[in-house]
Amino acid sequence: MSNSTLTLDVYTCEGFELPSGGMFSPTTSTLITGPTEAMLVDTQYRAADVDEVIRRIEDSGKRLSTIFITHGHSDHYFGLQRLLSRFPHARPVAIPSVAAHIAANLESDRAAAQAFFAGQALDNTVVPLPLTYSTLTVDGIAVHAIAIPQADIAPTAILHIPSIAAVIVGDAIYNGVNPFLAVTGPHEWQQWLASIDAIAALNPSTVVAGHKRPGAADTAYCVAETRSYIQQFAANVDSCRDSRELVAQMQSIFPDHVNPSALVLSAVTAFKRKKQTHA
Ligand SMILES: [Zn+2]
Repeated sequence: MSNSTLTLDVYTCEGFELPSGGMFSPTTSTLITGPTEAMLVDTQYRAADVDEVIRRIEDSGKRLSTIFITHGHSDHYFGLQRLLSRFPHARPVAIPSVAAHIAANLESDRAAAQAFFAGQALDNTVVPLPLTYSTLTVDGIAVHAIAIPQADIAPTAILHIPSIAAVIVGDAIYNGVNPFLAVTGPHEWQQWLASIDAIAALNPSTVVAGHKRPGAADTAYCVAETRSYIQQFAANVDSCRDSRELVAQMQSIFPDHVNPSALVLSAVTAFKRKKQTHA
């Protein structure tokens, strides 16, 4: 039976120095392989990284049947078109709410990605199909797609593989990277914390975050750490005088977290909102 287990191969791209200034967090793609079949989770968004994922799929010698997209941010799905031109029989899928979100926002995402990445990201015209069931399989072994209330955006989904106590969580969890808290507020952060509790309740031993510090281990430590980060961030928005103090405070608590520009953007946005609310 030792050959009928699933294996994970996690690829993490380098952080990307944005032409407009600032940094984009290192992003993961996960290849789930069984004895004959493979499923890819999230695609990368720059040509060289997508090509590295393609190389890994080819090296695995397995048949790529499915590409699962966790949520509708271009860094997680803009490699679809390039992947499908190499693996035309693979089926791109997402949970129905995520598939609908991506279809509705594709054109604005294309324009936004071109501007944001200054032409250094791939363009993409392919959208994932809505899943009509929640249990996928790789070589007959169950991989459950689970909708969660909130991550860096909603809707979003995670994958749970009970047979190897693994979860692949998109941007619900960050591993050694400052989370993107700039398009959510205090209400969403509570929903996000509830989502983290739901992930912890699965009792995973392997946790693959959508963004991680290259080389960080895919252990459950990042679940508790992300919960603590969001709690501390929310508390510090209330107690700090300004975004500069909030950034300094968070950096002193999480000194090993990469991509300070995500923290700066999150902090500035939080204080803009705070001032509007109190105006
Ligand atoms: Zn992301």
